[in-house]
Amino acid sequence: METMKALVWKEKGKVELCDRPMPKIVDPRDAIVRVTRASICSSDLHIIHGTVPRAKEGVVLGHEFVGEVVEAGSAVRRFKPGDRVAVNVESFCGECFFCKRGYVNNCVEGGWELGCRINGGQAEYVRVPTADQSFTRIPEGVSDEDALFVGDVLATGYWAAQIGEIAPASTALVLGAGPTGLCTMMSARLYSPAKIIAVDVSDERLALAKAKGLCDVTLNPKRDDVLCAVRALTEGRGADRVFEVAGAKNTFELAWQAARPNAVVVVVALYAEAQSIPLQLMYGKNLTFKTGGVDANSCGDIMKLVETKQLDTSLMITHRAPLNDILTGYDIFGNQKDGCIKWVVTPYERN
Ligand SMILES: [Zn+2]
Ligand SMILES: [Zn+2]
Repeated sequence: METMKALVWKEKGKVELCDRPMPKIVDPRDAIVRVTRASICSSDLHIIHGTVPRAKEGVVLGHEFVGEVVEAGSAVRRFKPGDRVAVNVESFCGECFFCKRGYVNNCVEGGWELGCRINGGQAEYVRVPTADQSFTRIPEGVSDEDALFVGDVLATGYWAAQIGEIAPASTALVLGAGPTGLCTMMSARLYSPAKIIAVDVSDERLALAKAKGLCDVTLNPKRDDVLCAVRALTEGRGADRVFEVAGAKNTFELAWQAARPNAVVVVVALYAEAQSIPLQLMYGKNLTFKTGGVDANSCGDIMKLVETKQLDTSLMITHRAPLNDILTGYDIFGNQKDGCIKWVVTPYERN
């Protein structure tokens, strides 16, 4: 095959399923992956809408995918053709100042590259840089779909819960019950908070989170006074830990308002515009803000937790269709139609 199918971001507001050249190894640390499952992520929508400054027009989208290694460069040590792998959203060298400290998002030669600055995984094949660091082996008992989110949304939720420093018996407030919010809740559970409070405008998403045991209390701002309710649930103090995963102006405000004094507020969301922090109003509240994006440096641990079912993202897969139908996927996922949480892309079908 000389060419393959791939979803290309043409310019602001425009994507197209195109024929593109088959990817080739360009650096000895690269590997080529045949994509077996990919997903559409809200960051893809941000790119299309032109709100990701680092994204490059003409790039193949897709940064959340799994597949089979079909070719490995001469410097790849840990992986060989035939291996099933989950791919990390971040490409990183493993050796620079930031990588050595686990801050792989700021690797001097990487960070979020795939499906943003270099061609990504909403395609039949993809070149993945720094394969030894980028790949997480998928164990035999784990399906491709169970591993699909390890490198991106699940890595993000896991990282958020980790930097949130959740103490046992505390109260964690999660704003947003979309894919990243759900992953944040299930990762927060690992730290045994007494209560996880989920907030979303979709009753459907809240009901799912509750039914699957990811949260204990659900609040819908369309109906509930969230601030009052959170205070009532915390003896008037506010939440010990707040995770802002929704990414709107009102949710950013709610995040610091609903936090108790000395809380940690983890801002995971990617905003389309500037937010303001009114320090004069929060003086004396002594908050700690921690901001995104994810340092996806724990994918090995996450895969073990997936293998042992302590993290299970299968509840998020609501839709599944071949690469042929990906534009329909963008419409349904992007507009949250038909109860869509995650749209999974299966390989392109030629008849
Ligand atoms: Zn993503
Ligand atoms: Zn590095």
